[in-house]
Amino acid sequence: MAVKTGTTEDVIAGPALQEIVGWLTETDEGRLAHLWRLAEQCRRDSVGDEVHLRGLIEISNYCVRRCGYCGINAGNRGIERYRMTQREILDCARQAVEFGYGTVVLQSGEDPGLKADWIAQIIRAIKKDTPLAVTLSLGERSDEEFVAWRQAGADRYLIRFETSNPQLYEHIHPSLPGRRSDRIAILRQLTELGYEAGSGVMVGIPGQTYLDLARDILTFADLDLDMIGVGPYLPHPATPLGKEYMKMPANSPDQAPNTELMTCKVMALARLVCPLANIPSTTALATVNRESGRELGLMRGANIVMPNLTPAKYRAMYEIYPAKACIQETADKCHECMKARIVAIGRKIGAGRGDSKAKYRRTR
Ligand code: SAH
Repeated sequence: MAVKTGTTEDVIAGPALQEIVGWLTETDEGRLAHLWRLAEQCRRDSVGDEVHLRGLIEISNYCVRRCGYCGINAGNRGIERYRMTQREILDCARQAVEFGYGTVVLQSGEDPGLKADWIAQIIRAIKKDTPLAVTLSLGERSDEEFVAWRQAGADRYLIRFETSNPQLYEHIHPSLPGRRSDRIAILRQLTELGYEAGSGVMVGIPGQTYLDLARDILTFADLDLDMIGVGPYLPHPATPLGKEYMKMPANSPDQAPNTELMTCKVMALARLVCPLANIPSTTALATVNRESGRELGLMRGANIVMPNLTPAKYRAMYEIYPAKACIQETADKCHECMKARIVAIGRKIGAGRGDSKAKYRRTR
């Protein structure tokens, strides 16, 4: 494998598939230190030292999908379901303003019970009452709904394509009857509608190879994503994929591991192929390394964190994977903890909404 020793621009200019695979399989600590330096330099040059805070509100855990990985999928009868009220959501948004966040992210299972008008009302209410940017992450909805929510004022939409391998995707994310799941098409549509589009993948899904991950990274660049979320796959025992994971042979040479290191490599490479993207240091990464996963992500290309604002009584019911970091924390505690971690590594708390520089470049 050709190890890049040149500038960040060299890496951005042409990271061929094989070179990315080379980095993903790299074990030499000295060379990896070089990758981390390139990602840090690229992050600093492209999006600066500010870390933007996005308040996450998990508004419903109802879901019609049967995603093999996800703890709140429709097949899991063992959890209580909830939907937040508009008042509760608005209270969380006001708290985001008090904490100085620039964005709220409304996330949920794929819940048709969240009616399009109801969501539009809540977007308008947040926009009327606060200066916040509004990000939605509500799964696969219709074009009409995406249009209506954009008109209501939604700024961004997050929908991970999870893996660019079509067979693996269909296996872990079965289509609904009569409606083929095509998240890449949805992402293009969202960009077309003027949303900042965010996507990403899980790292170390059973059956996912290094080559698959390298293709995922090139897909980030191809889509010119505004936001890229990457976290390790964390097996949930009450899911089909969680059960598959337990039976997985330990020594399959092509299987990408769901480790902290592999996640950091994907994040660093995501930064190099999409220098201007907003990249969060995810809760899944903080779950595999509670001590310093959050900071590590910020030092491997990330410039965003997403403190959780979901009311304490709903937190434990939104368990997409087990032992989720911060699940017991109040919004206050989460806020203080995130700020302290950012400052401790010499970074600054971002001011304002932290809009996508990639979108600015694309549309200016
Ligand atoms: N219903 C929405 C939001 C899903 S939760 C949607 O489907 O887009 C957000 C992300 O959490 C998912 O896209 C997935 O990448 C991640 N996730 C879900 N289950 C996970 C698990 N077991 N381990 C790691 N990440 C997981």
